[in-house]
Amino acid sequence: MTIRALLGAFRKRSFATRFAPCSRSLSTLVLAEHEGGSLKASSLSAVEAAKRLGEENSVSLLLAGSGPSLHEAATHAASCHPSVSKVLLADSEKFTYPLAEPWAKLVYLVQQKGSYSHIIAGSSSFGKNILPRAAALLDVSPITDVTEISGSNLFVRPIYAGNALSTVRYTGSDPCTLTIRSTSFPIGMVSASVSNDACIEKVDLSTFNEDDAVGKSRYISLSSQETERPDLGNARIVVTGGRGLKSAENFKMIEKLAEKLGAAVGATRAAVDAGFVPNELQVGQTGKIVAPELYMAFGVSGAIQHLAGIRDSKVIIAVNKDADAPIFQVADYGLVGDLFEIIPELLEKLPDKK
Ligand SMILES: Cc1cc2nc3c(=O)[nH]c(=O)nc-3n(C[C@H](O)[C@H](O)[C@H](O)COP(=O)(O)OP(=O)(O)OC[C@H]3O[C@@H](n4cnc5c(N)ncnc54)[C@H](O)[C@@H]3O)c2cc1C
Repeated sequence: MTIRALLGAFRKRSFATRFAPCSRSLSTLVLAEHEGGSLKASSLSAVEAAKRLGEENSVSLLLAGSGPSLHEAATHAASCHPSVSKVLLADSEKFTYPLAEPWAKLVYLVQQKGSYSHIIAGSSSFGKNILPRAAALLDVSPITDVTEISGSNLFVRPIYAGNALSTVRYTGSDPCTLTIRSTSFPIGMVSASVSNDACIEKVDLSTFNEDDAVGKSRYISLSSQETERPDLGNARIVVTGGRGLKSAENFKMIEKLAEKLGAAVGATRAAVDAGFVPNELQVGQTGKIVAPELYMAFGVSGAIQHLAGIRDSKVIIAVNKDADAPIFQVADYGLVGDLFEIIPELLEKLPDKK
């Protein structure tokens, strides 16, 4: 079933967001995260954001790690976006895991040599972990969670859980350090369609000593769930369940619905705290920020902390038995009813995903 057909059953309202580019001669270092030999989508969004700082912006990507996947990622990085002019490669076992301490020292070292006007990272755990520490070493103040770039030193960022937008002018010395909200800088088709070959240059790590690699944090292990579902942060459709689902067993209905729609599964903090699903599925102020074409919320009240994570969704559908639930104030389509009747009906009527 298409999204359009699904929407036929609900009431309609809509909104959109636009970003205006600006111009000034600049040089930007983008801190790039990679996995399995490819750049992560949040790093491509950071390149998009760098492009919007100005026309004459020379963009370098900094990749660190070790082994063959780093070199694969470098090849991908060199051809990922027409704005990238250079890929800087820090190849050392000290960067096998993206720990904040060695990475921040690396950024400091690269900045000393490159004198960039801006340093950008995505607002992922990776960027949020590294960039403020690097900014402290560089003695500058970071601007976090930027959603709009209005000039090379003028940025918009949400405050009060997204209830207000603050316009911030950076008046400090270079570099201006930013984390950007990936959903506000969509990468579109550019990475698939463009053939660009930026040069790949190794970072000279001769001055990077053992002490630089040692910090308070230590890598222990990585655990991730094997799933064929799309990544929550980049999914076209997100189906979210709240406390209204009442149990982990009932939450499986949300998973089945997501499967039929080829959607990612999300959850409120209340659903996570109640143990229905793991916390990596939490959407909101202290969870993931999503911006799908379609966001479906079942048994979700619409607390401001939850809404902070879904505001950029193109279409929001809410199902709640309480007609006064705040979620209906932001929903494009609302259905007052019992989710235990509505979800089984949807499951019955929707065709299986091909
Ligand atoms: C600092 C801070 C950060 C936070 N960060 C987040 C965050 O990132 N994400 C987040 O989600 N929350 C966050 N919260 C928690 C947030 O304030 C809410 O408590 C939470 O979002 C509520 O989750 P809920 O909507 O699932 O539960 P509830 O508020 O309990 O709502 C459950 C809803 O289900 C409906 N319902 C019940 N039964 C049915 C049924 N059979 N059919 C249909 N509807 C039904 C009810 O009418 C109700 O509206 C944060 C809170 C704080 C203080």
